[in-house]
Formats: sequence, structure tokens, C-alpha cells
Amino acid sequence: MYAEVFRELRGYAEAVHKPSPRLLAVSKTKPVTAIQQAYREGAREFGENYVQEALEKIQLLPRDCVWHLIGPLQSNKTGSVAEHFDWVQSLDRLKIARRLSEQRDPAKAALQVCIEVNIDGEANKAGCRPEKLLELVHKVCQLPRLALRGLMVIPRLNAPQEQTRASFLRAAALFSQCKIAVPDAPLDTLSMGMSGDWRSALDCGSSMVRMGTAIFGARPPGQRGQ
Ligand SMILES: *Cc1c(COP(=O)(O)O)cnc(C)c1O
Repeated sequence: MYAEVFRELRGYAEAVHKPSPRLLAVSKTKPVTAIQQAYREGAREFGENYVQEALEKIQLLPRDCVWHLIGPLQSNKTGSVAEHFDWVQSLDRLKIARRLSEQRDPAKAALQVCIEVNIDGEANKAGCRPEKLLELVHKVCQLPRLALRGLMVIPRLNAPQEQTRASFLRAAALFSQCKIAVPDAPLDTLSMGMSGDWRSALDCGSSMVRMGTAIFGARPPGQRGQ
């Protein structure tokens, strides 16, 4: 389904006069065969939530795939993430950022990172609080082996559409503030929108949507990855 989803995304972007966003294929819990199918259809960027599961897949897929960690990252896993991933979109604290920078091989390109923002201030949810964001942005920009590319947000699940849209608009405003705060950083990525809300995200300025279900089908309810 990758090719269809990609076409639909482009068609919508054209219709609403927005630049076409990048499409991240979220392959968590899906088998290697499904990822290979998406690859044949043109997918190159894949999102994974679980480090161990991703490491197994990374070995089996072609070298030109670009791997994004989009799930929570504990400090005992930063070494393998710095070694095997290209992007971390779920960065939300300085301690993890420092470890990733120290552990990234200088022979490799910098690790590309987005700061995850807890845009709705939800309890028990990952992400930097909006009021702490600029401080973290400044500090991450000083780390030599990281390249800060932007922000990633996941609005409150199952909220009414207008609420989700308001969250996306706040994220876009925060992203503009970051660009002004660190004009020399390569900030070009506002990662927002998933299978159920990508149209609203695009309307509000998303430059990367992360889609699992729309490309690979539903994940079994109640299992990891929901
Ligand atoms: C699982 C997941 C997605 C994809 O969700 P779908 O609704 O299946 O498109 C996107 N982003 C993150 C951070 C996820 O964990």
C-alpha cells in the first residue's frame, strides 16, 4: 500500500497548495517481508519503536534505507541507537542527547534528531514540555555529533478533530519559534500526522507524516505498538 498512500498524500498536498511532506513508513511490529514490499514500492525511510526489533530488521534490509527511532529511548540503549539508526525523533531530554552525541561514531554522519514535544501536556506521556523546549533546543544544538532537524509531536489520542488541529497549530508555532531561536540549525522537519490525522497535520504545516496502519494494515489490538 505504500505507493497508494504516497500518491494520496501528494494529491492532497497539491489540492491544498502545500509542499508534499516526506512519508515515513512506520513498520513497528511488521515482518521484514512487509518492509521489503514497501521498499519495492519506493519506501526508503522507516520508523521503528523498539530498538531490539529494529536492529534485527536493519540487518536484513538494503543499506540505503534510512531508519528513524520514533519510540521511547532508555539510556541503556543509546549505544546501539547511535550505532545503527540515522534519526531519533523521540529525543526529549538532555541526558539522552549527550549520550547519543558521545556514542555516535565520528566517522559517520551526525545523528539526525527531532525533539519530541508533549504538545497537549499529557501526564504519563513522553516528550519535552512546551515551556522547556527552547532551553533543550539550545543545549542540543551544542552537541557535536547531533544535527537538530526539528520537532515531533503526537497529539492526544482520540481527541475531537478540532482539538487535534489546535495541537498541530501550536506545534507549528513552536517550530517557528525554534527556527528563530537557533537560526544556524538545519531545522526543516515538523514531524506530525499519522494514519488517522495526516490531512489536518498537512493543513497545519507538517513536513513529515508517520504512517503505519495506512501502509501496513492494522496492528493487533492490545499488543506492543498500539
Ligand atoms: C505507531 C506510531 C505511528 C503510526 O501510527 P498509525 O496510526 O499506525 O499510522 C506514528 N508515530 C508514532 C510515534 C508511533 O508510535
